[in-house]
Amino acid sequence: MIKTEYLVIGSGIAGLTVAHLLSEFGEVTVITKGELKSANTYWAQGGIAAVLAKEDSFESHTKDTIETGAGHNKESAVKYLVENGPKAIRLLESIGVKFQDEPVLEGCHSIPRVWRTSDFTGQDILNQLIKVVQKNKNITIKENTEAVELIESGDECRGAFIRIGEKTELEPIFAKQTILATGGCGQLFGRTTNTIGSGGDGMALAVNAGLDLKDIEFIQFHPTALDKEDNGRYFLLSEVLRGFGARIINQDGIQFIQKFDKRGELAPRDLVSRTVFFELMNGPVYLDMRHIDARLIKNTFPNIYKRTKEYGFDLINDRIPVTPVAHYACGGIPVDLKGATKMPGLFALGEVACTGVHGANRLASNSLLEAVVFSLAIAEVIERSVPMDKDKDVEVKDIKIPVVAIEDIGQIKAYSQRLGKIMWKHAGIVRTSGGLEKAKKMIIEIPARDYRIQHRQLVCYKIIEACLKRPHSLGTHYISEELT
Ligand SMILES: Cc1cc2nc3c(=O)[nH]c(=O)nc-3n(C[C@H](O)[C@H](O)[C@H](O)COP(=O)(O)OP(=O)(O)OC[C@H]3O[C@@H](n4cnc5c(N)ncnc54)[C@H](O)[C@@H]3O)c2cc1C
Repeated sequence: MIKTEYLVIGSGIAGLTVAHLLSEFGEVTVITKGELKSANTYWAQGGIAAVLAKEDSFESHTKDTIETGAGHNKESAVKYLVENGPKAIRLLESIGVKFQDEPVLEGCHSIPRVWRTSDFTGQDILNQLIKVVQKNKNITIKENTEAVELIESGDECRGAFIRIGEKTELEPIFAKQTILATGGCGQLFGRTTNTIGSGGDGMALAVNAGLDLKDIEFIQFHPTALDKEDNGRYFLLSEVLRGFGARIINQDGIQFIQKFDKRGELAPRDLVSRTVFFELMNGPVYLDMRHIDARLIKNTFPNIYKRTKEYGFDLINDRIPVTPVAHYACGGIPVDLKGATKMPGLFALGEVACTGVHGANRLASNSLLEAVVFSLAIAEVIERSVPMDKDKDVEVKDIKIPVVAIEDIGQIKAYSQRLGKIMWKHAGIVRTSGGLEKAKKMIIEIPARDYRIQHRQLVCYKIIEACLKRPHSLGTHYISEELT
């Protein structure tokens, strides 16, 4: 039987940052479904937003965040995020992350405020975090270990039931505090930038333990992923490219976003995604950098350049075909300003959580920031809590280990793809009441025996219910007719 003081579920920026901080106060166990690097964090390209430049201000970052979030944001959370931004950057620097001297511009930021290490900033940050946690004697890491259900004792969370590798039996890990850092749910949609592990597991775990989800109808769709599926995901062409002057053009070579918003390519992502989505009905849409100096492209975006080449396109000489894709969950498990859920003993942070920071649409590069700021917040409350008495405190008598059905991976894949198609078509960029109702029925009809399908089905259902409860378009939630 495994006992630990702090159980961290997930190994992206949220999980590893909080693990690093909590290791000062006690023993931490990090479990992660795949390999350590298998996380959306690894693929973040743009960077991390923070007020560090002289000409910037907390007021400006707050205003940009709230304007992008369509005013649906929790203002106290936005202020907390923005004001703790510099501290978050210092923390990353203290573990060896090296940011460039000048920030870059992304959509809806009033001034350049996005700090990057390279054009693969997420990878650089995660590599550094991995180095630090692997060296730490107070942190045990378990890869290929999946949380399947939370352990409930009375109204408290006391750890999780886990599945190791392909084993068919579950086993418990008991913990005094459990921190869900399982990331987003982009994989529930047929087209996404998200890694294979981002199927909304943490949200399903929370709902199964009696918690609600909040703002989950606000799924951010990114307008410019390279239109070529690669192992269940689409490669992102970062907004920073557009910050550098990349244009979105139609098959006739005409820029068309400007017709709908004077900010053009740097208008809010929901508007750009919708406009691209409708234009795709007339023919292909491209990202075009051919007017930009070749050396500048190669020097500023060496990784994106190389990767795009591997897909058969040249950023310098070609128009790159693009598609909008599901990218980010603005909502999730509701938490307070200290990352605590309503369930004692359970925290949530990173993309799985809903702090209220993003409102109805996320400002670019606020999510890496949110993960670090709320890791600091969780560490602060936990530091003040009573240490665990390892023998007495965590014991849960008569624990009943759940039995889960396990189907073959081909079947799981087929059902996941079916769910993905339904969600993309009916709960994607443009939603209608009829489509959402239809999707609800189709989702329930999928025979969910395996826990993985049950989890996905549950979160899809919750997203659709949330969409149906919001009769007017707001932020990323766009319906083409009023619901009756
Ligand atoms: C292509 C791309 C580019 C992006 N660019 C930026 C950017 O420039 N700036 C920015 O701020 N944001 C960006 N984002 C968003 C940002 O990367 C994510 O929101 C952030 O990395 C989420 O971090 P996280 O730690 O919450 O989740 P993740 O990094 O996704 O980590 C989740 C972890 O949980 C594990 N997990 C999931 N379920 C289970 C389970 N049941 N049991 C055990 N482990 C589990 C996963 O395997 C993974 O290790 C980007 C996202 C993508 C996809």
